[in-house]
Amino acid sequence: QVQQALLALTIPLEMLQVVKSRMLQAMLKGLSRQTHAEANVRMLPTYICSTPDGTEKGDFLVVELCQSYVRTLWVTLLGDGNHSPQVTHKIFDMQQDIIQGTGEALFDFIAKCIHQFLAGISSSQQRIPLGFVFPFSCRQTQLDKAELISWSKGFSCTDVEGKDVVQLLQAAINKQELYHVDVVALMNDTVGTMMTCSMGKTPCEVALIVGTGTNSCFMAEARLVEMAEGTSRKMCVSTEWGCFGDDGTLNDILTPYDQSVDQESSNPGEKRFEKLVGSLYLGEIIRHVLIALATEKALFHGSNITVLRSKDVLKTQQVLEIIDAEGGMAEVRRTLEALGLQPSERDCCRVQQVCRAVVTRAAALCAAGLAAILSHMCQSWELERLVVNVGVDGELYRDYARFGEILQNVTGLLAPECVATLLPAVDGTGQGAAIVTAVALRLAAQRREVDCLLAPLRLSHADLERVQALMRQEMELGLGCETNANASLRMLPTYVRNTPNGIEQGEFLALDLGGTNFRVLVVRMAQNSIHIASNIYVVPTTIMQGTGEALFDHIIECIMDFQLKEDLMEQTLPLGFTFSFPCQQLGLDKAVLLTWTKGFSASGCVGKDVVQLLREAAQRKQHFGLKVVAVVNDTVGTMMSCGYDDPKCEIGLIVGTGTNACYMEEMKNVGMVEGEQGRMCINMEWGAFGDNGCLDDVLTSFDRLVDEKTINVGKQRFEKLISGMYLGEIVRHILLALVEKQLLFCGKPCPKLQTKDIFQTKFLSSIEMDGLALQQVQGILQDLELEASFEDSMLVQEVCQTVSTRAAHLCAAGLAAVVEKMRENRGLDQLAVSVGVDGTLYKMHPHFSKHLQQMLQDLAPNCTVTFLDSEDGSGKGAALVAAVACRDS
Ligand code: ADP
Ligand code: MG
Repeated sequence: QVQQALLALTIPLEMLQVVKSRMLQAMLKGLSRQTHAEANVRMLPTYICSTPDGTEKGDFLVVELCQSYVRTLWVTLLGDGNHSPQVTHKIFDMQQDIIQGTGEALFDFIAKCIHQFLAGISSSQQRIPLGFVFPFSCRQTQLDKAELISWSKGFSCTDVEGKDVVQLLQAAINKQELYHVDVVALMNDTVGTMMTCSMGKTPCEVALIVGTGTNSCFMAEARLVEMAEGTSRKMCVSTEWGCFGDDGTLNDILTPYDQSVDQESSNPGEKRFEKLVGSLYLGEIIRHVLIALATEKALFHGSNITVLRSKDVLKTQQVLEIIDAEGGMAEVRRTLEALGLQPSERDCCRVQQVCRAVVTRAAALCAAGLAAILSHMCQSWELERLVVNVGVDGELYRDYARFGEILQNVTGLLAPECVATLLPAVDGTGQGAAIVTAVALRLAAQRREVDCLLAPLRLSHADLERVQALMRQEMELGLGCETNANASLRMLPTYVRNTPNGIEQGEFLALDLGGTNFRVLVVRMAQNSIHIASNIYVVPTTIMQGTGEALFDHIIECIMDFQLKEDLMEQTLPLGFTFSFPCQQLGLDKAVLLTWTKGFSASGCVGKDVVQLLREAAQRKQHFGLKVVAVVNDTVGTMMSCGYDDPKCEIGLIVGTGTNACYMEEMKNVGMVEGEQGRMCINMEWGAFGDNGCLDDVLTSFDRLVDEKTINVGKQRFEKLISGMYLGEIVRHILLALVEKQLLFCGKPCPKLQTKDIFQTKFLSSIEMDGLALQQVQGILQDLELEASFEDSMLVQEVCQTVSTRAAHLCAAGLAAVVEKMRENRGLDQLAVSVGVDGTLYKMHPHFSKHLQQMLQDLAPNCTVTFLDSEDGSGKGAALVAAVACRDS
């Protein structure tokens, strides 16, 4: 019979393996947002995202609420790696009536303890940060915001469940007029243990408590903690594994003794795992085994065992002494005799065996739980082998060496891929709480500095409305004949008077100069279809920056080469010329270059009609079959190419290397061109918006640094806030400032980051990609020889987001001015219009277009704007301009 009882209490290894995998299942259920509500193992987020780095420094107050007392600690951290924190503490006994009284009385009591304790402490610190160790299940939403889910361990104070206990404590502290004490962090005892054990060199990322109750916590991969919004890689999760099995998952290992213990407890059916492991219950389990064996007459023959029928007659401490190898036998006899039993030698042996079996089972189950945690960590960190420190606290572990041995060995068998070193928590949870508080303060201070640095880049709605109004004002100035000269917007007439109607037909040549590539194209338009063949030609830098003649000769040579290849030598096709530089246009085929941009500087061109330059080159090259009908800016080409499919497309937008826009304006508003009838497309050259200083208060110190290193200082101010050529540079300067303020890369100097243009705008696209594992961000930064921690990567991502969002929003403010003007021009309450867009930044950046469109809707609520991606705007568009011109002439 004794053997049978012992057997029932022994869980074979295969079964422990099963328990482990059930625990894993239960943990995943708790982590997932969908199943969290019904999970037994709740996996509560703690908002503790990093273990200490040793730089923590200062005086900290800790308050720990325990079963029968409140402990206060004064911890001084020296920033020396936490090797020698100075700790003073005091214990205040708490009456039973407090833990079952009102919440107010409880928190007032705690605050009074703090008051009394602080009276004996002298500190020069103005504010005293407080860490609160509160060992109950809380629904935490921040480090200093935690609603009590439910009381346990005999506490039942009224009006606390569902409330934020940090607020309750802070209010009670304020009542004591301790206004200089700030409750900064709340944590449970498990988390405190983990942080206490992290004090040495190596971090401790798991902790177990096996005392009266049992619980565990560990640093989980933050993205798996779906219940918490977080910006860090890891977050400590309190498993609350005491409730494991409350759904019946453990029924097949429960013995009749466990069932009796549960039935007699104050919370039957709950905390099933805790009732197998926690020391509060071990004595009770043993008592029920002894009752059963005595009833079966296998123990205490002839004794009256009534005494065993009363609860809690066997104390944990006695159990632990009984199972002790040395004094154990004497202790058994003493204990049993004290209960009025008359044990035989054999009874004593058997009772000791039973005690060992129950405690061994507790250790083995604890190991199964720990193995589940370790395997989970190993998997989610994608490691082949996990090496980790495990902080352990609680009387079972402290007072019974075998417990630790079993825990260690069984864990090793159940999770062979993990190497866990068990660390006893020597000083309880208090120092850990001080550390958590210190880390929280350090991070909060850093956050404030980062926010302060980025604040000027975060434009408010009002800021954007102001930019919109300025853009509108500059548009009017640029359109007016007298005011044009003083406006930062040139508002250049393009002589394009109509958008396509979709029935244009014929064959056209097109040139595209001024984008990333120089191209020659042939565009064949038939009913409802456009066919394009094109070829890319290189324009060597020597030619870009040589003489105008050489440049245009080169262009003609490329055209001839293309015509030869496409067998077009015999035909004279109308040609549209996309020439994406600011031009004063005097007719559709007459465009005077105002200034070169984008690295071109060919001599003898500025002030000349580029169509004429092209024709002269054709003469020189004896190429007579060329008929230039139109010269077009790329914005216009983009509008036209989208207009072929959508007649509402009356705006063109470019967000690539540079930025620019064009739109259909009423002829009567175009002061620079004769005529009042109809419309004309206006090339805004909006990149220059702000060159008269009207945007100066939007510019940040970073923008000025970027501008200073450009070839056109003080020019293209709007473009330098928005386009691909500059965003990477803005980010680079911000990163340098963050490093200098020691907020990034530990303040280590980054020589490579000093190089102009090393941080490319395409990096913003990669870094801001949704769901990008931060390891990949680290990879990008590594190429720049930047050693980025997880937190560094998050910060770089935030900087990129801030810069690209500002760009998109400014672009929206500009477009809002355009669409609102068009709406008013036409006297409409509501305007529906489409924008043709081109440019790699707009097309490739993961969020730019979304941010642009959302903000535009906010800023111009009376306009419904559709965005169309242009396909080959410059090529197709130029041909379409030519086609429309041929159609209308
Ligand atoms: P262009 O404006 O010269 O006609 P593009 O529209 O292709 O040419 O824009 C090129 C610019 O786009 C590059 O200068 C670069 O700054 C930016 N860019 C390139 N790739 C990306 C990307 N993946 N994400 C964001 N911007 C990019
Ligand atoms: Mg382009």
